[in-house]
Amino acid sequence: MKQSGQDKTLHQAQLATLTVWGGEELGHPYRATQTPIVASAAHAYSDIDEWYDVALGQQPGHIYGRMSNPTVEVLEAKLCALEKAEAAVAFSSGMGVISSVLYTFLCQGQRVVSTKDSYGGTNKIFEEFLPRMGVEVVLCDTLDHDEIERQIALGCDLLYLETPTNPTLKILDIQRLVNAAKKAGALVVADNTFATPINQNPLSMGVDVVLHSVTKYLSGHGDVMGGIACGTKSLMDPVRHYREINGAALDPFAAYLIIRGIKTLALRFRQQQYSAGVLAEFLLTQPLVESVNYPGLATHLNHAIAQQQMRGFGAIVSFVLKGGMETVKVLLPKLQYAHCAGNLGAVETIYGPARTTSHVENTLEERLALGISEGLVRISVGIEETEDLISDLKQAFEATQTSLTQTW
Ligand SMILES: *Cc1c(COP(=O)(O)O)cnc(C)c1O
Repeated sequence: MKQSGQDKTLHQAQLATLTVWGGEELGHPYRATQTPIVASAAHAYSDIDEWYDVALGQQPGHIYGRMSNPTVEVLEAKLCALEKAEAAVAFSSGMGVISSVLYTFLCQGQRVVSTKDSYGGTNKIFEEFLPRMGVEVVLCDTLDHDEIERQIALGCDLLYLETPTNPTLKILDIQRLVNAAKKAGALVVADNTFATPINQNPLSMGVDVVLHSVTKYLSGHGDVMGGIACGTKSLMDPVRHYREINGAALDPFAAYLIIRGIKTLALRFRQQQYSAGVLAEFLLTQPLVESVNYPGLATHLNHAIAQQQMRGFGAIVSFVLKGGMETVKVLLPKLQYAHCAGNLGAVETIYGPARTTSHVENTLEERLALGISEGLVRISVGIEETEDLISDLKQAFEATQTSLTQTW
């Protein structure tokens, strides 16, 4: 892209500054202050030699939208700044990036070690698609680090981590498991969607590939889907090649919305994370609540690990309601400042049970085997005023109590 001639150096900049300026150091064409949407499937050349050089990657430039696009390239550069990565490759959804990374690096006869708690779609790849390809997948109890280490030592080509987990908010000790994986010569892939680059940068802990569903916090407004992988150039080159051939490229309009969203990530996340802590404490006091999952609670099983490896505890809280799905059905519709929806990470607060959100792809038996009760509700805390979120939950609990007493 022809640049406007500004040249900013961001080496010293902190994360909030990088969300705004990262990937945009060189300015934009036409002296625009914002990244233009380059809506062009192909790029034209009158010099055939130059065209060929660009096609071979010997000269910068663009050929065809499935290979690269100038708007998408700005998003990829922004993620490099946020995740301290050499290279990044954007995809049309979070699952698009997860499947593409796994299929890029795995082949028949290999062995993957991961945990039972991972995003439902990821779990389906592990249980359904990888075994079909002849890849062995071992899913360990997420809370049993000894078992995970033991399975890695038995042979591991790829270790797949997701922390905090969705929707149970368990925490994996990244450094400890990376050490075990390195000993076994395994590639380590981590889904960083819940933590966001604001809370943790797994690459700096030795993880090889970091993934995001940018549909969530990064874009932040629930109006676009996307995924991105980050890592060294030598690891991202084959991922880019996989995207080019298999086709799950990100649309430049989507890339534009995601870039715009990321600029407010640090601000949004600060507020959401603060409210999440307050809501978690409030939930603990509620008679209808059986248990609360939030890594910021001193009672959380992995609180110490979270404190050590994360800069904050995140903005997702989950809790188990007494009475299971019956109570869920009564409580959720009573909330005023909440969507009941299968999404998270948006500016609006979003409530949903695992049955219709993170684990909609799984059967009841599969959910129970994964330790996900039917009364589990996930809150993706939005940017609304904290007090309003608390009073909303309070009135919903009171009304639920009343209506349950009447029916029982
Ligand atoms: C939503 C989500 C995904 C899948 O992303 P999509 O953009 O919905 O395809 C993967 N991992 C985690 C942790 C998620 O929350």
